[in-house]
Amino acid sequence: MFGRVPKKSDNTNFYEVLGVPKSASQDELKKAYKKAAIKNHPDKGGDPEKFKELAHAYEVLSDPEKREIYDQYGEDALKEGMGGGGSSHNPFDIFESFFGGGAFGGGGSSRGRRQKRGEDVVHALKVSLEELYNGTTKKLSLSRNAICSKCKGKGSKSGASSRCYGCQGTGMKITTRQIGLGMIQQMQHVCPECRGSGEMISDRDRCPQCKGNKVTQEKKVLEVHIEKGMRDGQKITFEGQADEAPDTITGDIVFVLEQKKHPKFDRRFGDDLYVDHNLSLTEALCGFQFALTHLDGRQLLIKSNPGEVVKPGQYKAINDEGMPHHQRPFMKGKLVIQFHVIFPESGVFSPEQCRKIESVLPMRPSKHLTDMELDDCEETTLHDVSAEEVKRRKEQRQHRHREAYDEDDDDDESAPRVQCAQQ
Ligand SMILES: [Zn+2]
Ligand SMILES: [Zn+2]
Repeated sequence: MFGRVPKKSDNTNFYEVLGVPKSASQDELKKAYKKAAIKNHPDKGGDPEKFKELAHAYEVLSDPEKREIYDQYGEDALKEGMGGGGSSHNPFDIFESFFGGGAFGGGGSSRGRRQKRGEDVVHALKVSLEELYNGTTKKLSLSRNAICSKCKGKGSKSGASSRCYGCQGTGMKITTRQIGLGMIQQMQHVCPECRGSGEMISDRDRCPQCKGNKVTQEKKVLEVHIEKGMRDGQKITFEGQADEAPDTITGDIVFVLEQKKHPKFDRRFGDDLYVDHNLSLTEALCGFQFALTHLDGRQLLIKSNPGEVVKPGQYKAINDEGMPHHQRPFMKGKLVIQFHVIFPESGVFSPEQCRKIESVLPMRPSKHLTDMELDDCEETTLHDVSAEEVKRRKEQRQHRHREAYDEDDDDDESAPRVQCAQQ
């Protein structure tokens, strides 16, 4: 209903803001402010703009001298007369100076002022795949700053503190320096005397428990519940459990799960589990069975179907034996097994054995070469080439190709690229 305080000369708006007549007594002003400020306090879900306006209006009207200037000349006159921004006090300070911080009963003062938010503390939490599969609870001991229990965060025995002289209570110091003709640079630093708090506590009045720091170190044990199916990178948040500080909304402690690499299983594509299994050539051809120990210790019997031949690199899956789905742990992904076939080494078969094997294996694809045909062929020798060597040769080749490309580019900016792409 009440917009921003108008800029033009106006000497009734402050009365409207507080909802009192121009003739209101100091007592009436006080009562009106108190009622409206409690109702509109941001801690109680009120509009911060409205709260600020109320404080500003009350600050002016409660001061007889300011009220007189306001009544006669309006708000602009006040701004000029008070030497620049004279009435820009923190509305929370005004509210508290008025109520002594106890407006909402105990604890009101620690939350009422400047509602700045403390930083979140983020920790990486290493977990095994077994822990993500089965779910677990980890107890972690952390130390954090907690509001001093002895002084309730005031830092002094008496609860009194005075405004810091170094910064006039702002917590910041501004220094200026000339950086050029008529140019002045302003720099803001945290006040070194009060370390940004804006307050000074005399040595004698300092709280013995926190030495005036307002906070003390506290050990805290957090129980982190790792639910079935949670994932690498998932966050678990403890709201408002980070370092406490006066006049600050405490930040969160956040654990980010970091899954340790598992020697056997690999989680992929959400909730599927991948596992490698080596088969001997005999198993691949004639069938196999083996026990696979799962992440919860169960033994799964894995076996081939009768007559089944498994090819090198082939995948096979078992439904509902993958990772549990987070929040719906009764649903599980697939367990996918990739089979690798281990062939026998050269020289293990005698010629006799080879003939036996050949007698049961499928026929050779090619017919025997005749002596005539053999005479027409050149003799060659096969030697081993490792997969690494093939890879290396491929990379060398690509590298040389790129270099050739770059040289072409130097000669002519556009033509070679187009030509190359068309080839
Ligand atoms: Zn203390
Ligand atoms: Zn200071």
